[in-house]
Amino acid sequence: MNDARHLDWPFFDERHRSLAHELDAWAAANVPASHGGDVDAACRALVSRLGAGGWLRHAVAGGAYGGSAETIDTRAICLIRETLARHSGLADFAFAMQGLGSGAISLAGTAQQKAVYLPRVARGEAIAAFALSEPDAGSDVAALSCAARADGDAYVLDGEKTWISNGGIADFYVVFARSGEAAGSRGISAFVVDAGTPGFEIAERIAVIAPHPLARLRFANCRLPASQRLGAAGEGFKIAMRTLDVFRTSVAAAALGFARRALHEALARASSRQLFGQRLAEFQLTQAKLAQMATTIDSAALLTYRAAWQRDRGGNVTGEAAMAKMAATEGAQQVIDAAVQIHGGLGVVSDAPVERLYREIRALRIYEGATEVQQLIIARGLLREFASAGTR
Ligand SMILES: Cc1cc2nc3c(=O)[nH]c(=O)nc-3n(C[C@H](O)[C@H](O)[C@H](O)COP(=O)(O)OP(=O)(O)OC[C@H]3O[C@@H](n4cnc5c(N)ncnc54)[C@H](O)[C@@H]3O)c2cc1C
Repeated sequence: MNDARHLDWPFFDERHRSLAHELDAWAAANVPASHGGDVDAACRALVSRLGAGGWLRHAVAGGAYGGSAETIDTRAICLIRETLARHSGLADFAFAMQGLGSGAISLAGTAQQKAVYLPRVARGEAIAAFALSEPDAGSDVAALSCAARADGDAYVLDGEKTWISNGGIADFYVVFARSGEAAGSRGISAFVVDAGTPGFEIAERIAVIAPHPLARLRFANCRLPASQRLGAAGEGFKIAMRTLDVFRTSVAAAALGFARRALHEALARASSRQLFGQRLAEFQLTQAKLAQMATTIDSAALLTYRAAWQRDRGGNVTGEAAMAKMAATEGAQQVIDAAVQIHGGLGVVSDAPVERLYREIRALRIYEGATEVQQLIIARGLLREFASAGTR
């Protein structure tokens, strides 16, 4: 199932190639194809297994805190997500959320905050969540209204967060709230809130198309010591954007993993299904579909690993990551749809691999910036560059 030719591309170092091969073998032996009805238990088990396997070390930064490197290796997390997504959407989710949920601590935490949280995240002993979105602030996230009022040496949180992955099973949540230092995005701070903190509760569990733990959170007079604030007061929005900058490219990589799996399933079905006296794969209409699927996958992979490589070299990747996320998620949706079509009726049978992929891919076009938001990021970058070139 692993077409690893892209690992020869110049974006990768030798360590990336061995990481991808080792994880593929590990996942084949350790990640179940289907996870049963208890998604919370399945997710906890996957986090613990990924931790014991050593894979979560890549999700955190700093050797002293259990990380595999001093900074997060974007190509490594992309290869891990691509590989896990090929095997199981939930395994990819479990890995990704450990990284996204603890990313703000890796990027902006004090040594003490890092020491408290990151080693447990890396070992799979603590589950992390990233709480930015609110009922009235999704794409327009700078409009968030959850309040953090300074009160002596503490902050008091009041408000709601929604669509929070790992909500209900996380051991801690990185929460972004309005602390009021300035208007708009400059008046937001980041906090780590431990599960069980008085005044913090899970208001609602949300069931989605591809089940994973998801919840709406409520804070009512939730008191936190100021030592739970991450970074400087008012810097929260920047911290959130820096975290998303690392992980947005990895969403593209997950989409790529789903698409590769769909192509593999389509090739297998088209090669074996007999109809009208020959194999489905022998019809040119089928071959056109397969050619388009493979080309969409390679274009998305090139954009994804260009963005990851560029970020690892220290470059700004806002535009490149947006292109990768848009192309890979939109492209994967088309590839998976074609795979379902090639399977005929079998493509829509509950829990068949392509039916699962069809559900798994959908949310990736919405979260961490919907496709329309990526389009705006790309176009605004182009217009800015054009305007500054025009004045030179
Ligand atoms: C499965 C899932 C998991 C998630 N996990 C997390 C999480 O762990 N933490 C977290 O903080 N958030 C999470 N989210 C929230 C996610 O980031 C938001 O759903 C997303 O940002 C979109 O916000 P919204 O749902 O409020 O949609 P809205 O902001 O209401 O946007 C609706 C639609 O409008 C369109 N749109 C947006 N902007 C524009 C524009 N400028 N011009 C034209 N059209 C536009 C897009 O098509 C968009 O889908 C998750 C969401 C889902 C679905």
